[in-house]
Amino acid sequence: MAGCVFCKILAGEIPSAKVMEDADFLAFRDIHPAAPTHVLVIPKRHIETVDDLAPEDAPLIGRMVLAAQEIARKEGIAKDGYRLVMNCRSAAGQDVFHLHLHLLGGRKLRLMG
Ligand code: 5GP
Ligand code: ZN
Repeated sequence: MAGCVFCKILAGEIPSAKVMEDADFLAFRDIHPAAPTHVLVIPKRHIETVDDLAPEDAPLIGRMVLAAQEIARKEGIAKDGYRLVMNCRSAAGQDVFHLHLHLLGGRKLRLMG
């Protein structure tokens, strides 16, 4: 998708600190980490928001969540706990309109909302 920063990361046009990858998703470190561990898991297909997901995307989203689980274990934050977040559109503060799952942890996180 032209102009999409995450599609540019997927294309290698913008560098990123890759954490994990498979055929359908890429995980990399957030450029402005909000916690000691802040990883983004994104589908390789350009999907704008959670609201654009279709029933057939359920396996993709499931694999993205399991990737986050595996990364959290590898980062050593699974026992203490972590947060998975998907912001959808403006009220939630979505900035990049290429679906992404935030994995946040490594410190006590504040309540949301
Ligand atoms: P959102 O607010 O859309 O849920 O989150 C977008 C996230 O993408 C932000 O946490 C922001 O720091 C991150 N981000 C934006 N541009 C880049 C980039 O070029 N590289 C990386 N690694 N992260 C980015
Ligand atoms: Zn994109």
